Amino acid sequence: MDKLLADRLSAVKPSPSMAAKARVDALRAAGRSIIDFTIGEPDFATPAHIIAAGVDALQSGHTRYTGSTGTPALRTAIAAKLDRENHLSYHIDEIVVGNGAKHIIYNAFAATLNDGDEVIIPTPYWVSYPDMVAINGGTPVIVPCGIDSSFKLSAAALDAAITARTRWLVLNTPNNPSGAVYTAAELRDLCAVLMRHPQVWLMTDEIYEHFVYGEARHVSPLQVEPALQARTLVVNGVSKAYAMTGWRIGYGAGPRQLMKALALLMSQSTTCPGAMSQAAAVTALSGPQQCVQQGRALFSSRRARIAALINAIPGLACLPPDGAFYVFVDVAGLLGKRTPQGATLANDVDVMMYFLEQAGVATIDGASYGQPSYLRMSFATSIEQIESGCQHLRDAVSQLIPQLPSQ
Ligand code: PLP
Repeated sequence: MDKLLADRLSAVKPSPSMAAKARVDALRAAGRSIIDFTIGEPDFATPAHIIAAGVDALQSGHTRYTGSTGTPALRTAIAAKLDRENHLSYHIDEIVVGNGAKHIIYNAFAATLNDGDEVIIPTPYWVSYPDMVAINGGTPVIVPCGIDSSFKLSAAALDAAITARTRWLVLNTPNNPSGAVYTAAELRDLCAVLMRHPQVWLMTDEIYEHFVYGEARHVSPLQVEPALQARTLVVNGVSKAYAMTGWRIGYGAGPRQLMKALALLMSQSTTCPGAMSQAAAVTALSGPQQCVQQGRALFSSRRARIAALINAIPGLACLPPDGAFYVFVDVAGLLGKRTPQGATLANDVDVMMYFLEQAGVATIDGASYGQPSYLRMSFATSIEQIESGCQHLRDAVSQLIPQLPSQ
């Protein structure tokens, strides 16, 4: 078997969210009732008018290959969306459609990284970035950004992380898992650093842009520093905003040379995204947008509820997130305590496993996002599940035995 597999696979771990899902499925199959807070997708159906567009596409013959960068109709709809919502101007030749935003990010690293090239990834990060860099021969440069900096990269930390080998900075706003949303002023400071380092490209993953709450507003870095457009890849997609994760449509917008390289990789690997999904995505981006506002309103009410319930449990704490649909819960207050079974909770993975086994509540450890001592809990689930899950957590926490005083 060793001979079968390529060396580069040794640099890659399985996705922690997939591993968490497998744990939930196994426990449910064994008859346990589990409240699942690991979900990384909206819990409601794709809006009916988008499904109708997909069905119509199938019936009207959108069942064949398309061009490898996506249909002109979809790229035109994406250009119009970028202009309308983000005030960014792109020609359709500067846009590539992929099988999800993940595909675009992966191909961008595959197209640009040589062995040892560095990619700056602030913590906490979406689990896939470091592995996608590593599998393509790059070196992830992880920059810790804790609660003191509201889980955001500062200009000084960025400056300190840049070397002659740096190829990309990956920014994710709103952020999965912390919910942090960069302000225009923060982005201006980061862009000012990038302007001084012409070898560094910016990848800006804006897949959660529509899920922002309270006073927070989504700003695309190029809105504050248009001069970076010549070395920026804007990544986005329809998965989260339109509850279309299974349709697999994401896109990238960037300079023609990079887009050509992405198209080359697509043409020799996946050929093109599904034609019927592309047609449905045209309707998603160009049709009525109330569904997006409804999704945001739903998440906004759940966000307030889950944050209040978590903060009422002794030993747990979270900030109400500014964006996305996750709370990032500080569990440091539980570390060192002992479970009724006599084990000591030494880290966030232990806490995650205790909650799963004792409370029947599934979460994901912060270590998987580069930020130990936290758990990620998704609120892409009903208020009833949120209330009952938090009650189970409260009960499990109340059964912990305080750390023995040191001798
Ligand atoms: N970027 C972030 C930050 C995500 O959380 C996800 C999905 O969880 C993606 C990108 C990928 O989205 P998709 O490939 O479904 O477009």
